[in-house]
Amino acid sequence: TENVPENSNDALFGKYEVGKLLGCGAFAKVYHARDVQTGQSVAVKVISKKKISATGTSCLMSNIKREISIMRRLDHPHIVKLIEVLATKTKIYFIMEFVKGGELFAKVAKGRFTEDLSRRYFCQLISAVGYCHSRGVFHRDLKPENLLVDENGNLKVSDFGLSAMNDHIRHDGLLHTLCGTPAYVAPEILAKKGYDGAKVDVWSCGIVLYVLNAGYLPFNDSNLMAMYKKIYNGEYRCPKWFSPDLKRFLSRLLEKNPEERITVDEILKDPWFKKGYKELNFYD
Ligand code: ADP
Ligand code: MG
Repeated sequence: TENVPENSNDALFGKYEVGKLLGCGAFAKVYHARDVQTGQSVAVKVISKKKISATGTSCLMSNIKREISIMRRLDHPHIVKLIEVLATKTKIYFIMEFVKGGELFAKVAKGRFTEDLSRRYFCQLISAVGYCHSRGVFHRDLKPENLLVDENGNLKVSDFGLSAMNDHIRHDGLLHTLCGTPAYVAPEILAKKGYDGAKVDVWSCGIVLYVLNAGYLPFNDSNLMAMYKKIYNGEYRCPKWFSPDLKRFLSRLLEKNPEERITVDEILKDPWFKKGYKELNFYD
């Protein structure tokens, strides 16, 4: 069918039966597939090598190989597992754990969450982020499409480690958001100052936490420049149903100055966070 990738004689087809298209990014397509031998469901992310080489970055394939080896070592209950990577002359296939429940934000779109439910997802998110940061891996592209929920209602972060890969693919750090919203971008990225991946991830987690509790974005405007200005100035308001403790905690996450922004270690000690945080096996 039209949903099946080209090159039907390539490595993928011996092992996996490719099914329907799950989603489409600027540079990648994600398909559902089935391991023919085991019957296991997987998600296959297909990236065209042509798009990678179009940026003309040198040492590209060796960088990509190094990054893939880091990603394959990530093993955490709240991170989508990378099962294997296959390549043909023209494409790279990332074979990932298939997450059944869909996107977290499809759920929040049906109605904002209670503070307790938000906290539960947020703790799982921070668990995944802390695990990766302690291994020197930063996401840098935490956004709604990358937060999936499994059939048990647990959060799974996708594309951890892939962000470095995206740098090879992207022409512009902001342009990749063409198909989505740049609403998760940290102020220091807008300032083009050079940035710290850990700080940027914490900012995005702050946006996620706000959205879960509010049901809408903290920084939004139909005019893109106006939205950037709000982000840049750290201008947002909390709805009246946010508890004082949540507001206080959010202000530490959505701190426009990355130097003053809360770190993952400090998040773990914050009273709002600690209230719901069970031992989530942080660093292993
Ligand atoms: P990109 O990073 O290129 O934008 P995404 O990661 O957003 O691509 O993937 C596109 C869509 O595919 C996602 O919105 C999600 O619904 C779906 N998807 C991605 N990974 C998985 C997965 N492991 N299991 C199930 N669905 C997935
Ligand atoms: Mg993604």
